[in-house]
Amino acid sequence: MLKILDKSFVPFITASEIKSEVSSLAKSLNEEYAEKDVLFIAILNGAFMFASDLFKEISLQSAISFIKVSSYQGMSSTGRVDEIIGLTASIKDKHVIIIEDIVDTGITIEKVKKLLYSEKPASIEVCTLLFKPDAFQEKEIPKFIGFSIPNKFVVGYGLDYDELGRNLGEIYQLKEGSDPERNMLNIVLFGPPGAGKGTQAERLIEKYGLSHLSTGDVFRYNIKNNTELGQLAQSYMSKGHLVPDEVTIKMLRAEVMKHPESKGFIFDGFPRTNAQAAALDELLTSMNSSINVMLALEVEDEELKTRLIKRAEVSGRVDDADPAIISNRLKVYKNETEPVKSYYQSQNKFIGINGLGTIDDITELLFKAIESL
Ligand code: AMP
Repeated sequence: MLKILDKSFVPFITASEIKSEVSSLAKSLNEEYAEKDVLFIAILNGAFMFASDLFKEISLQSAISFIKVSSYQGMSSTGRVDEIIGLTASIKDKHVIIIEDIVDTGITIEKVKKLLYSEKPASIEVCTLLFKPDAFQEKEIPKFIGFSIPNKFVVGYGLDYDELGRNLGEIYQLKEGSDPERNMLNIVLFGPPGAGKGTQAERLIEKYGLSHLSTGDVFRYNIKNNTELGQLAQSYMSKGHLVPDEVTIKMLRAEVMKHPESKGFIFDGFPRTNAQAAALDELLTSMNSSINVMLALEVEDEELKTRLIKRAEVSGRVDDADPAIISNRLKVYKNETEPVKSYYQSQNKFIGINGLGTIDDITELLFKAIESL
């Protein structure tokens, strides 16, 4: 925990998560703006650290300007006039990329864009490290976003609390000590491929009104819609490998943020590594909540193989149909995913459930386990 003046903060986004996100933003910009006449405009003070790290990874031949936005009481009918200070470079006909540390209501950035448009640039886009979808009031969301985060106060990596904390290499979130823990029911539904997680998740949702979050389903949705994420995920999924942690964690975070008022989540197919488990804890802590239990469906390998081959007939999933891919998935489960059990065992949050039997029998066992919490 971190104390700045009268407030306490908890870790939220690590330095290495920031680093990898900055790299991927720079990569997108380098690709998208190749051959274009680009000018970066960073908004001071908060964006100085992000701008510096991002700009180091920009391979385009481009300049960077630093501006400040000031508001003063003017003579206009609205009473408030904003002014940009420090823009000496001409932006006419240039592709402008505004670098921001955080976009929350979006009001400031909208004013900056309006002022810049009067100078006739070729285009203006916003690249922000942090974005608060719940606070955003404008129409046009930033094109390049590092992390979408809940509407809570954050500090570090250029962002300040009363001018302090800008020097931190990671981002912290305000700890709302007076807030009682949110009364959510968060379940990790665990088990090897074919254990019946999807089927049982449906029953649990119906009974407890939870939000279902299956990372496998989200990846499949993205593959079907041929998104960038889908193309990336497919290269791993088609071989039965895990999609890299940083990609999966980022996606999960965004999915959780889509349900700010949820009564709780069933995490199905996530976490599959200890790093994912730790990231999930951090995310839930930032929401003033936590995992209540891991319910692990236990089924023998031979039975799993039979089930998956059978499922392939209806699901059409290529990773279910091929015995070599199935074996690989089971191997990955044993080596990389099963250790996640001990992560929850050490927190006293693990309950094993016999996954052999009728669907109804297993549902009953799950309900009993939840009632026992
Ligand atoms: P599932 O539908 O849960 O069996 O997931 C199908 C495939 O999606 C897996 O074999 C992985 O390639 C990928 N996947 C799903 N969830 C995760 C995760 N939490 N971490 C990494 N890869 C995942």
